[in-house]
Amino acid sequence: MSILVVGSVALDSIRTPFGNRKDILGGSATYFSIAASFFDKVDIVAAVGEDFPKKYITLLKGKNIGLEGLEIKKGGKTFRWSGKYEYDLNTAHTIATHLNVFKNFDPKVPKSLSRPKVLFLANIDPDLQAKVLRQIKRPQIVACDSMNYWIENKRASFEKLLDKIDILLLNESEARQFSGELNLVKAARLIVSFGPKAVVIKKGEDGVIYFSKRSHFVAPAYLLENVYDPTGAGDTFAGGMIGYLSRVGKTGDNDIRKAMIYGSIMASFAVEGFSVNKLLDISVTDIRRRYDKYRKITRF
Ligand code: AMP
Repeated sequence: MSILVVGSVALDSIRTPFGNRKDILGGSATYFSIAASFFDKVDIVAAVGEDFPKKYITLLKGKNIGLEGLEIKKGGKTFRWSGKYEYDLNTAHTIATHLNVFKNFDPKVPKSLSRPKVLFLANIDPDLQAKVLRQIKRPQIVACDSMNYWIENKRASFEKLLDKIDILLLNESEARQFSGELNLVKAARLIVSFGPKAVVIKKGEDGVIYFSKRSHFVAPAYLLENVYDPTGAGDTFAGGMIGYLSRVGKTGDNDIRKAMIYGSIMASFAVEGFSVNKLLDISVTDIRRRYDKYRKITRF
């Protein structure tokens, strides 16, 4: 058994200063699982509609991602998100969220997937995240991501979930929104008081911080010259981080630190192309090369 992820599998429409794309492959579970697939076996629990292009199913299967838990809803429409970025690529502005098949989704974890090594509750309705958590034997690591949309619309469900997870990943504006604290150290401390052992706060091109009751760690983002589309950076970071932790099967301080670097490296690839295009283009050797370069850049 390996990594199980529940999250969105989506068709995104994106506007950035570098171009527009319509109905391209997106979704939190999609980015996560493609990134994590470089480290360990991943299975998805999610739903799509009949309009979900077959070529995307083939693409996910091609990455050896398990789709036994991906429901194709008869007559349903795939979740759609549209967003835009201004020149500040750190902030996504949501134009529209159409939940479609996720409105009445009742996730069923196939029995064969109910004992994962690691569970990742990717960004989706916290009630769906909780439903999946209830159906599995609790693994060694349960990590969770969310988004302003759910913090705003499902705060009570989200808070309840926090007590049941080990690592929460949020971006800095979500951490501030949830905690009501401007300062991220204070925000992190408050978030951890809700139950998770640790919180990872993603700051886009400013890097990422890890904060637990015992320690904290700061990792800069890998410096890039060309960023085309930041969509999915957070989920891809999670895929690298959780994928690495799953592969090594340990969560000591050193493992967490290395995992955060792998997360940062994977995210740096994701933003170099629209949708998951760049992630499909790289190999383990590219990841290792960037990892070594990152070490050199940050050593002092
Ligand atoms: P990220 O840029 O890593 O925060 O995640 C981007 C992905 O999240 C996009 O591909 C969207 O399809 C997906 N997404 C956007 N809004 C939501 C939402 N409310 N619930 C679940 N997934 C979403």
